[in-house]
Amino acid sequence: MSKKKLYMVSLSGGKDSTAMLLRLIEEKRPIDLILFCDTGLEFPQMYDHLKKLEKYIGREITYLKAEHSFEYYFSEYMPKRKNPKLEKYGGMSWGGPYNRWCTAMLKTRVIAKYLKELKKEYDVIEYIGIAADEPERIKENGCYPLVEWSMTEKDCLDYCYAKGFDWGGLYEIFHRVSCWCCPLQALSELRKLYEHFPDLWAQLRRWDDSTWRQFRADYSVRELEIRFAFENEWSADGKSIRSRAFYNALKQRIEESRESA
Ligand code: SF4
Repeated sequence: MSKKKLYMVSLSGGKDSTAMLLRLIEEKRPIDLILFCDTGLEFPQMYDHLKKLEKYIGREITYLKAEHSFEYYFSEYMPKRKNPKLEKYGGMSWGGPYNRWCTAMLKTRVIAKYLKELKKEYDVIEYIGIAADEPERIKENGCYPLVEWSMTEKDCLDYCYAKGFDWGGLYEIFHRVSCWCCPLQALSELRKLYEHFPDLWAQLRRWDDSTWRQFRADYSVRELEIRFAFENEWSADGKSIRSRAFYNALKQRIEESRESA
């Protein structure tokens, strides 16, 4: 006997999946479940957005969470280490380009486990909010309404703004909105976090001070602070922060800070 169909919206809370959800509702397409996987690392404005969205659509969003918090995995969890030299350290510390443990443990495994159960009973049709101008992210199987509607990332943002969703200005600041503490985000995004969110930045510094793996391969959080302050100083003097002279002077400043630490 064939299983009953279940239509599910994968909601990240960002502009694309929000636009997809709003338009699916507008077009009266079937929706049985709206799923959001909460890493606990979203900007406070994102949680406000989700509450506002629930109110607007008059439906509940199903929140999924990993068994433990980011902080537990980050500083306490003791995995089996492949490298015996790391056995003395507690926690997984920062993820990196070759070790995105946070994506796996806080998102993909949580969603996969939930879907596995759901699929025992239902034929799950998942609406995926990938914009029409991101063809490289589209897989063969899947339901991509934004592609069907030719909605680009800009169209999605405009559509959400027109409906009164502005994420408290997050998209005026950042190009992409995801975990605020992501070590894989671009330097330009981290600079904005440093400038606009001093409380979150202070938390980032506390975590980095408390752990055994540096925030990024090239800079600790404190070194990023040195860099951003130095950029401001250098620019105030009318000098280019894209010059070799800048990088040499910055390198020296960071080396001095390492020596005095
Ligand atoms: S966005 Fe960054 S911090 Fe968040 S789960 Fe993905 S890799 Fe980890």
